Amino acid sequence: MKKAEPTIVGEISCGVCNAVAEVRQRSTGKKLLYTYCPNCKADQRTGKQIQAFWAENMQSVGTIGTRQPEPAPEPITENAPETDTGDDIPEWEPEQPKAEEKPEDSDSRGSGWVVGGLIAAVLLAFGIKAGSQQ
Ligand SMILES: [Zn+2]
Repeated sequence: MKKAEPTIVGEISCGVCNAVAEVRQRSTGKKLLYTYCPNCKADQRTGKQIQAFWAENMQSVGTIGTRQPEPAPEPITENAPETDTGDDIPEWEPEQPKAEEKPEDSDSRGSGWVVGGLIAAVLLAFGIKAGSQQ
């Protein structure tokens, strides 16, 4: 005797144990929906409300399953040189403040003028606006 494969039409999170339950459809009769939870097993209620609930709340297969947090696999880089775990580890040194950096006085002064000019322009524009409204 050949057993018919269940037609899985979607999935839903089980209201009892929160596991991902399959929403299946019977291949015979009224093609009623039923759910199959790995923990709670099959729920074959045929009432209108529960049938409508399943139909409205089921998600595409794989939607709920992928929502569960899984540790992302490390990307495998092929042909990457192996990290040398020998005794070649450089000693940690505190970062030295760079004394060679040139002070950028001229630049900051220039941008200061630009900002000042913008503010003046804005103030001027507002002043004109306010004046024209009076
Ligand atoms: Zn369950």
